[in-house]
Amino acid sequence: MIRKFFNQVFKRNAITHTADAQLRIIPSGKHGINRNLISPCALKVAHGLQKASFSAYIVGGAVRDLLLELKPKDFDIATSATPEQARALFRRSRIIGRRFRLLHVMCGNDTVEVSTFRGPLPDDNAVSKIKNYIDQHGRLLRDNVFGSQEEDAVRRDFTLNALFYDPFSEEIHDYLDGYADLKAKTLRIIGDPVTRYREDPVRMLRAVRLAAKLDMQIDPSTAEPIGDLAPLLQNVPPARLFDEMLKLLLSGHALPCVVDLRQRGLHHGLLPMLDVILEQPLGERFITLALKNTDERIQQNKHVSPAFLFAALLWHEVLAAWNSYKNSGEQSLTALYQAIDDVLSSQQKNIAIPRRFCSAITEIWSMQPRFESLVGRKPLRLVSHPRFRAAYDFMLLRNESGEMDPELATWWKRFVAADPDNREKLIPKPASTRKRKKRTRRKPASDAASAKQTPASAGKEKPAS
Ligand code: ATP
Ligand code: MG
Repeated sequence: MIRKFFNQVFKRNAITHTADAQLRIIPSGKHGINRNLISPCALKVAHGLQKASFSAYIVGGAVRDLLLELKPKDFDIATSATPEQARALFRRSRIIGRRFRLLHVMCGNDTVEVSTFRGPLPDDNAVSKIKNYIDQHGRLLRDNVFGSQEEDAVRRDFTLNALFYDPFSEEIHDYLDGYADLKAKTLRIIGDPVTRYREDPVRMLRAVRLAAKLDMQIDPSTAEPIGDLAPLLQNVPPARLFDEMLKLLLSGHALPCVVDLRQRGLHHGLLPMLDVILEQPLGERFITLALKNTDERIQQNKHVSPAFLFAALLWHEVLAAWNSYKNSGEQSLTALYQAIDDVLSSQQKNIAIPRRFCSAITEIWSMQPRFESLVGRKPLRLVSHPRFRAAYDFMLLRNESGEMDPELATWWKRFVAADPDNREKLIPKPASTRKRKKRTRRKPASDAASAKQTPASAGKEKPAS
């Protein structure tokens, strides 16, 4: 009784109540989703759950994207069945996750994610802390409290991500006016923005990514606290930040996303050196070109390597550290490897780039000086390196941004385009031994990075042993 009174007098935490939720049913004739565009696996899973008397809806990004006539990336199902109840219905399924337990159902190569309707946390933050639901910043540590469909809608991030589509009645259930927001091209967080960002700071990154992907405006009250709350990203595990950053960079809208991240100050905990890099014309040009290029590739359905992307984002940080080691007297290649180590290890504190990507990034970077050396069999050895293609594309990007001798890049383009049997003929021939010796004394051969050679000068250099 007393608790009820308190709840009425002091407005309950926006996320825990459904008072603002009011069910609107949007019939098929109005929303126009084409049922044939839904994955057969999602249909099979929704049907299996409904046949067993559970409610089951397609939910989230898939409904949103279908309404916007975009191709959904994946299909998620929300259901009243618990993970165990749903697991019992599908032979090829497994329960995953700890923070957020859900079920993966596999059909052939397709996987559908099934999540049980989530409910509210205890009203009282102190209780939530004791029970380990949230940390001292209000960040959600676990979200395994189950609830009703309406409560599930309220726990989602943005109103247009909280639409439930029943593929059999073909109706959309909309509790939070997400359909109207979608039509108005407005991205609006559900509940109190500050509380929701505190619960999960990644929602700030999702806001930026979805606004760019969907070409929408972030509602002013949803956008307003982002600048102040940006430091909360530091409390998010670096591995999760890497996943979210990757989603953002591979969204096909990486350039507007990164520009927006920077404008909102959200990049500080992710790519701390971005400001410094973007303030230099060469750095800005390099990153802009790299991201534009990535977006174009994604839009043409071409493969983009995450290692290449992170190599590009961090390259000017490496250049700065490399120069500073060289200036302090370090030999060029040693300086480069020291710079690479520094940049990668300091980056790990912000976003945890998986080890397999770090070794690819290191290769792309450390191969760059080898493009400067056009002597003997060196170009032939370089072209046969397993990571050559990525390193070559990276070199072209450096060239495009004005960082290299354009003559050298032109030579490499001709070399790569040539028939492999004819490539050797393109390599500049060394001049006389005497000249070679003189040159060698002036520039130590080990100093590969500083031994810059244009194709015109390359012939005068020492041939490879
Ligand atoms: P896309 O798949 O295009 O990246 P999405 O919105 O489908 O976008 P998912 O990560 O697949 O993103 O999430 C599926 C749904 O789960 C979302 O639409 C949203 O309803 C909910 N969701 C995802 N992340 C969060 C979050 N951090 N907080 C609350 N709800 C979330
Ligand atoms: Mg999705």
